[in-house]
Amino acid sequence: MLPPETELWNRVEQTAREVFGSFGFGEIRLPIFEPTELFARAVGSETDIVSKEMYSFEDHGWIELEQYRAALIVKSMSPGLPSEFTQFERSVLAYVDILSKRMSAGDVPKTPENEKALVQVRRCLDDMNRAGASFVGTQSASDEISFENSLKGVKQALLFFRLGDVLSLRPEATASVCRAYIEHGMHALAHPVKLYYTGPMFRRERPQKGRYRQFYQIGAEVLESVPPNTDATKTIGKDAAVDAEVIEMVMAYFARVGLEGVQLDINSIGHSAPECRRGYVEKLKAALEKVKDKLGADSQRRIETNPLRVLDSKLESEQAIIEKLPRIGDHLCADCAKHYAEVKRQLELRGVAYRENWRLVRGLDYYMRTTFEITARGLGSQNAVCGGGRYDGLVELLGGPPTQGIGFAIGEDRVILSLQEAGKGNRAQGLDVYIAWMGEKTLAAAIRAARKLRDAGFRVELPPVEQKFGKALGQADKLGARYALILGEDEVASGQWTLKTLADGTQGKHSEAGLMEFLRKQKS
Ligand code: AMP
Repeated sequence: MLPPETELWNRVEQTAREVFGSFGFGEIRLPIFEPTELFARAVGSETDIVSKEMYSFEDHGWIELEQYRAALIVKSMSPGLPSEFTQFERSVLAYVDILSKRMSAGDVPKTPENEKALVQVRRCLDDMNRAGASFVGTQSASDEISFENSLKGVKQALLFFRLGDVLSLRPEATASVCRAYIEHGMHALAHPVKLYYTGPMFRRERPQKGRYRQFYQIGAEVLESVPPNTDATKTIGKDAAVDAEVIEMVMAYFARVGLEGVQLDINSIGHSAPECRRGYVEKLKAALEKVKDKLGADSQRRIETNPLRVLDSKLESEQAIIEKLPRIGDHLCADCAKHYAEVKRQLELRGVAYRENWRLVRGLDYYMRTTFEITARGLGSQNAVCGGGRYDGLVELLGGPPTQGIGFAIGEDRVILSLQEAGKGNRAQGLDVYIAWMGEKTLAAAIRAARKLRDAGFRVELPPVEQKFGKALGQADKLGARYALILGEDEVASGQWTLKTLADGTQGKHSEAGLMEFLRKQKS
């Protein structure tokens, strides 16, 4: 990203700060990476994001332990050569010994998984020993196979051992906001807690227009602890109003930023109970099983892993089939149906136009009840600029108190693309004044003029060395300056500075104070 495009990015972000601020949101700044476990638990290990799109790494500096392990992993062995095996066993046990000591010292993670891995290594070595000894007498294929399997077991357990914590570059930010909410005891703050964030997210995807591996999101979350003994049926009206206000805010933001062709889709995906979403998913699954042969490979796989995601499919051949599937709206429990009706009423009260879209399920596990997506013009197939929804229960899932949540994430890259497509991108703010100074004696006055003009908010270029008159004006022109302030020794001596308007070539003389006054007037 380069200027002048970065100016558009700044405007898009600044507008978010202003609009979100006017709704009472404060900014939260989050870390770029977090424990992988956080995303696996919050987003869901079966989701595309967690199962294949995260950039994860083991955070440690144990190069020699890594190399030691790599050397053990590549070893192949036959039960017919006991001396080789003895040597291997000795090396593995020495390695296990080092790992145990490091674990006790707290240098590598002392987790139940790591402890289990070391037990597993020892057990597989014993099995290898047994199979090897037996093979010497029998030469049997089954002893050879069990020797090989035990060797595989040793290697797997060694690989399973974590030399450091496993971290991931954040693929989204809601999980981190909830983690921070818990860690900083925000349930004790005045409620609801309203936070917004901006920044890069990372997902391993096939890059195309509007889809990148490092992309930027602007998001907001509303979190509210649920006091003990709260009757959930009594808060439906309030929850729906909060949902509607969050949606109203994001629509107000898009209007302020000047996004065109904005379309809001909403849906309710109920809550995860047998009489609500879970029951629906069973019905959906049964219906999908019946048409399985007509579906593509992705959808076929999703029948097992995440049937709701089949509804997301853009595959042309599946559209007619999907239209005939059972719809969640017909299977919501009474409370969820009431909540959804109230969200729609609240949106209408606020004059927010929406379209109901029963296929809008979103790809993240944590959503319940309200889901929404906003699309915009000029983006081709990647036209979603915002996705969001309600996620009551997520904070609790991550170890916090019972908490309700609703939020959204805007794809900033796509907002920028859409604005550029609409011709709203080229807002390059050119230079105001180029100071053409000539002669060493004028330098002090030139520096003073630059400082005064900059303090007054003008964009000023002060060349570091003096230039010939013609070259200075050429340079001012190239940089798109509106004015050239000409400071020669005569001007400094007389206190009458020359200001040239570059668009029409006119020029006039001004005192130092008069010049500031003149420029200020031109600007306003
Ligand atoms: P999600 O976090 O998947 O709900 O996405 C929210 C919004 O982020 C989407 O509507 C997109 O505008 C944007 N987004 C998601 N993934 C990408 C990506 N790989 N590249 C650019 N924008 C993205």
